[in-house]
Amino acid sequence: MEQNKGKIGVTTENIFPVIKQFLYSDHEIFLRELVANAVDASRKMEALAASGECTSEIGSLRVEIELDEKKKELRIIDHGIGMTEEEVDKYINQIAFSSAGEFLEKYKDQLGSIIGHFGLGFYSAFMVADHVTIETLSWKEGATAVKWTCDGSPEYEMGRCDKADRGTVITLHIDKDNKEFAEKGRIKGLLEKYCKFMPLPIVFGKQQEWKDGKYVDTDKDLVINSVEPLWVKKPADLKDEDYKTFYRALYPMGEEPLFHIHLNVDYPFHLTGILYFPKIKDQMEVRKDKIQLYCNQMYVTDNVENIVPDFLTLLHGVIDSPDIPLNVSRSYLQADASVKKISGYITKKVADRLEDIFKKQRSEFEEKWDNLKLFLEYGMITDEKFCERAMKFCLLKNTDGKYFTIDDYKTAVSAAQTDKDGKLVLLYASNVDEQYPYIDAAKAMGYDVLLLDCPVDPHFVGMLEMKVEGCRLVRVDSDSVDNLIVKEEKIKPELSEDARKAMEEAFKAVLPEGNEYVVAAGNLGAGAAPVLITQAEFMRRYREMSAIGGGMNFYGSLPASYNVTVNMESPVVASLVGGGYEDKDTLRQIVDLALLSCGMLKGKPLSDFIARTIKGLK
Ligand code: ADP
Repeated sequence: MEQNKGKIGVTTENIFPVIKQFLYSDHEIFLRELVANAVDASRKMEALAASGECTSEIGSLRVEIELDEKKKELRIIDHGIGMTEEEVDKYINQIAFSSAGEFLEKYKDQLGSIIGHFGLGFYSAFMVADHVTIETLSWKEGATAVKWTCDGSPEYEMGRCDKADRGTVITLHIDKDNKEFAEKGRIKGLLEKYCKFMPLPIVFGKQQEWKDGKYVDTDKDLVINSVEPLWVKKPADLKDEDYKTFYRALYPMGEEPLFHIHLNVDYPFHLTGILYFPKIKDQMEVRKDKIQLYCNQMYVTDNVENIVPDFLTLLHGVIDSPDIPLNVSRSYLQADASVKKISGYITKKVADRLEDIFKKQRSEFEEKWDNLKLFLEYGMITDEKFCERAMKFCLLKNTDGKYFTIDDYKTAVSAAQTDKDGKLVLLYASNVDEQYPYIDAAKAMGYDVLLLDCPVDPHFVGMLEMKVEGCRLVRVDSDSVDNLIVKEEKIKPELSEDARKAMEEAFKAVLPEGNEYVVAAGNLGAGAAPVLITQAEFMRRYREMSAIGGGMNFYGSLPASYNVTVNMESPVVASLVGGGYEDKDTLRQIVDLALLSCGMLKGKPLSDFIARTIKGLK
């Protein structure tokens, strides 16, 4: 074979600088691409042996990575099928380069927004190297070894070499802008990130040990992918402990998960994986442990946004599917038909699993509910299909710590909590400590009070009202206890316009500034508090929703508005009104008492309040 020189078949004149520039942030994927090619070539060898097409001994098919830090040379070595001269010409000179050319042409307008996880293949070597060599010997009988070199211009050299063993060696001379990829630690980190579950051993030098004050190589190979990818195994062959061990391998810092789901589907798309339900605490924590997406055991990304519904991104684990298109930008993914199917399938599996645990292990389900609740409610609010399923197994917890299904709860409280119009009124508290006087008062009336203390609960409450017919939810502190569930029309105290104005003026003068108040006279009973401050259910809810970002910002920007009910049946109020509101101490005292019990006095020093009360008692 003669030494050949030629020009790579690309349309764009000098494509390498373009690649380097556009794909700046994702340089590191070159290693994944090259190792993936090496693994592919090795698996093809396996297939040839299995089919009997190749009868000679195929030997070990592991892939080796070698790094010479001084020379800045990185080598990817495989013992796969290799390439003949024609194949190098066809796959490397023609196809590989021209397809990358087409790719750039097609996406040049949106390269910035495109996910960096498409298969640029062999080409991506030029993102980090100024000089690349391929030495390869095909498995085919009588093949001669070929050496191909390219220095980053569209010109290459190709000729014979004396490589004696089957397979391919790709040598990259790392360029000066990418020195990091000539560092052992960086390469090891990348191999661990991308190759942890590849189907053949990936070897990077030797394991080290600490000896005489420094690390030295042992004679044992350092195999990067020593953890088995559990998801490719049959669920029937696995024990609970295996799933837990695998979870720890994925997230060494993570807390033990609640449950797992093993996904496995062949039709109409291929998908395997294991999802874990993590313990989700009472706030939307930063999602540092994420679902990892693989394609045939090769790590792709841990950004599964638009691939699974948003609420499922709270889960952990792995999804492996060759059917998720990776060479399109994120915004197209959602509309993609197979992504839609995949996302629907996963949602259904998650609902199936939860329903199964609910039915078969109810007490375990209740025990884990507090950690599952945020996930479930978030799913119900944002995903209609999931909501339909979850209505059956979603639990409601009351302030006594008892759990009910939605249907059971309705049955349990309907006798006591149906109002005069036949509506079922469900009472809830968002904080047991702050709202305890209201909770106690409601319980004394024979009512039950739910605990809805999770950040998505303001939305969840609205959703329940839509889904459960004839039902309304009211927070315990949103009105006086006998107004929470109105069983019959009440007689309101009658006040003249002048008397009403005088009352409004007197009370507003002592109420904290910065809020709106609606002062009204009411009959709350002689034994009840003289003044009751509440925030109307709808107003508070809108404000809460806008605070956690649910639109309705109009309400969020309004000052808080409170209803101040003056109990005309209270003897203290009667004397205050009788004295023309002259007794300012008493006025302040009863207002403070109301502020204290609705939690509005929190910020103020309590001593202030106590001093006034003592003065009032004298
Ligand atoms: P892709 O892998 O997406 O086909 P690449 O540019 O990575 O694109 O590679 C082009 C072709 O070159 C491959 O399909 C394969 O036929 C050949 N090839 C690349 N690397 C190797 C290798 N290590 N051993 C054998 N053939 C290879």
